[in-house]
Amino acid sequence: MRSKSILVLFVVFLLIVLSCGNSPVDSAGNPTPSTLQIELYSDSVVYSSWNQCTDSDFESYILWRSLSPDIQSDPSQAQVLKILSGESLQNIWYDSTVVPGETYWYALETRNTSALSAWSNELGLTIPLNEPENLTVFFIDPSHGSLSGDAMLIRTPNGFNYLIDGGDRRSDWNCGDDRILPMLDSLGITHLDGIVGTHPHSDHIGGLIAVLEEIPVDKVWDCGWTGDASGTYEDFLWEIQSSGAEYIEGNRGMVLDWDPDIYVKILHPEPSPGTGNMNNSSIVIHITFEDVSFLFTGDLETDEGEEDVLSFYSPDDLKADILKVGHHGSSDATSSQWLDAVDPSFAAIEVGSGNTYGHPHSSLLDRLDSRGIPVYRTDRDGTFVITTDGTDITVF
Ligand SMILES: [Zn+2]
Repeated sequence: MRSKSILVLFVVFLLIVLSCGNSPVDSAGNPTPSTLQIELYSDSVVYSSWNQCTDSDFESYILWRSLSPDIQSDPSQAQVLKILSGESLQNIWYDSTVVPGETYWYALETRNTSALSAWSNELGLTIPLNEPENLTVFFIDPSHGSLSGDAMLIRTPNGFNYLIDGGDRRSDWNCGDDRILPMLDSLGITHLDGIVGTHPHSDHIGGLIAVLEEIPVDKVWDCGWTGDASGTYEDFLWEIQSSGAEYIEGNRGMVLDWDPDIYVKILHPEPSPGTGNMNNSSIVIHITFEDVSFLFTGDLETDEGEEDVLSFYSPDDLKADILKVGHHGSSDATSSQWLDAVDPSFAAIEVGSGNTYGHPHSSLLDRLDSRGIPVYRTDRDGTFVITTDGTDITVF
């Protein structure tokens, strides 16, 4: 019994000696890691802090952020939020670049003058969605001389921002630089969550090129036209690629993840249109926010456009309180059958005041008038705004 007790004591002693002997070797090589803390400072600012490294050979902190966990094993998936060293040294950082609804992971790397690293603990945080507000659509006036077009800014209830089309461009003026970007600036919008170019005509995508050049855009939906098109369309496709935005061909039946509080669906066209009337390749989008819905139709005309959508969907799918009428109010769009199905309470017409096509056409205005549908139009009213809390609709 006695010899066994002595053996146990010896083993314990040996373990203590070994563990004491190991720790100075570690601290002499890698820096002492900090413990990271994060908390939500306001609705959309993350406050991070950590204990100061007191190693004599301390050099810098690098604060990393990622959309997925385990930054340490693959930092290339993460982004450097801030490098703190020398005069900028502090042990706090405010991250004000987070988006509601996203989950972020944070980790702090400590470096020493021997370029050795140590990682802090890693923490994740989901940014709460703000109290949902209104769904608001700015029907931007595309008028300049004889130029016309479509250009609409959509601000979703949780504050995400999308453009559907961007008006026209020519050498001395373009709707993107001269109208849309100043408007975004005045609204404090420095980044777009997405852009829809309904079809390749210049009066829809011309102004979007300048927007893509100037501010970050996450995603671009395009109709995927495969036939001949103008140089403007080539410029548009090139600019999408060079801007780094994600290109998506928008086809019938796609549900778009624009905001958890609204339902956004593409009703048209079929994949890869490339023949026939380009207007009928327009991306048609239906948006529902609680009891209120919008239908955006690009330049969709009746033959092979509206008729195609009507044959595919029931009136329940097409019903919309606000109809952006097709093709600037031309006579060959927005047929009686279309109006019967959509059954709008308001009609919005995107059209240039100096256009030479006679848009909007009197026959279309008569169709709307005979149904008692109030009409708002950019050529007469300038830019107008329709906003809804999901129940009531206000136009101003
Ligand atoms: Zn057009």
